[in-house]
Amino acid sequence: MMLLVVNSGSSSVKLALFEAAEQRAEARVEEIAPGGHAAALARGLAQMGVRPDLLGAAAHRVVHGGASLTQTCRITPAVLASIEACADLAPLHNPPALAGIAAVTDLCPDLPQYAAFDTAFHATNPAVATTYALPLADRRRGLRRYGFHGLSYAAVVRRMTDLAGALPRRMLSFHLGNGASACAILDGCSVASSMGFSPLDGLTMGTRAGALDPAVVLDLAARHGVAGAAEILNRGSGLRGLAGTNDMRVLRAAGTAEAAFAIDHFCYWAARHGASLCAAMGGVDAITFTGGIGENDAEVRARIVNSLAFLGAVMDAEANGRGERAVHKATSSVAIWTVPADEERQIALETKAAIARKEAQT
Ligand code: AMP
Repeated sequence: MMLLVVNSGSSSVKLALFEAAEQRAEARVEEIAPGGHAAALARGLAQMGVRPDLLGAAAHRVVHGGASLTQTCRITPAVLASIEACADLAPLHNPPALAGIAAVTDLCPDLPQYAAFDTAFHATNPAVATTYALPLADRRRGLRRYGFHGLSYAAVVRRMTDLAGALPRRMLSFHLGNGASACAILDGCSVASSMGFSPLDGLTMGTRAGALDPAVVLDLAARHGVAGAAEILNRGSGLRGLAGTNDMRVLRAAGTAEAAFAIDHFCYWAARHGASLCAAMGGVDAITFTGGIGENDAEVRARIVNSLAFLGAVMDAEANGRGERAVHKATSSVAIWTVPADEERQIALETKAAIARKEAQT
């Protein structure tokens, strides 16, 4: 069965074609016009040489599943309504996925469609980790921590089982890309995440500041209006706010004091949040890195691990420099791994499992 995995952003659509767990083709359509998801989808399929009528199913990456959508599932009218309701919680993130779903419906009206959620992996977090100490009426509106990058972390759990032979019990996982977060994974289940109600919280990111005193948000909203503050917080902060670019490679090449400080800030706060997450697991047995920076930037990995040396983590500098998978010294009491991002395959595997569940029921 041919499965089309669709990752719709506000200005690009990424497609991947899977047959069982094997990726057969991929395509990326950039700079799509507003409302142009259907045309972008058709172009992407043409690029991959795929006829829409040969597809068996499509699966969409959806950032926010809210409190109720906690596993990959078939998109029924009720599920679609829930994703639409979550668009209020994730105004920047869910609308492109909804546009992607509508585009597939336009192109292949009878194709079964599935949704995989970035929040779902964190559904196992205990209430104490997800609850904000806010008045009940506001908590009832859904103001709580959800956590994101869940498909990436689920893929890390799957890959680490293969790479390490057995899954480490207490795993501190970093997803360091343009968006950056860390997650405490106990026995394969998320118990805490650095991201909260939205992907704005936690680590210093490419264009987001990470954790801020809420009074800073109030000040920005008073000065720039709510929409202006949202723009600053989502697109004008983080590495870009500190040094003018969100691209770690450009910062590395810049060699300016500003760029060096931005990298310091990124590493320092990754380690600070990482240590806090270890408290949620009662310690740490393994640290993993994934994402564009986590997989490729040996110096960032080394600096974060060196800041966490008090936990017993000792990096093998040569293995790290060579970009090997296992990058800890034999004497390290904490294993350290780099794990290639594998979100598309994760979506494909979870969709396959959802289809099998459905078939078992009928
Ligand atoms: P992602 O969002 O996972 O695609 O990651 C994007 C980030 O990874 C950007 O900041 C890139 O500069 C960074 N990145 C990609 N390749 C490298 C590399 N070889 N060295 C350092 N950073 C990299």
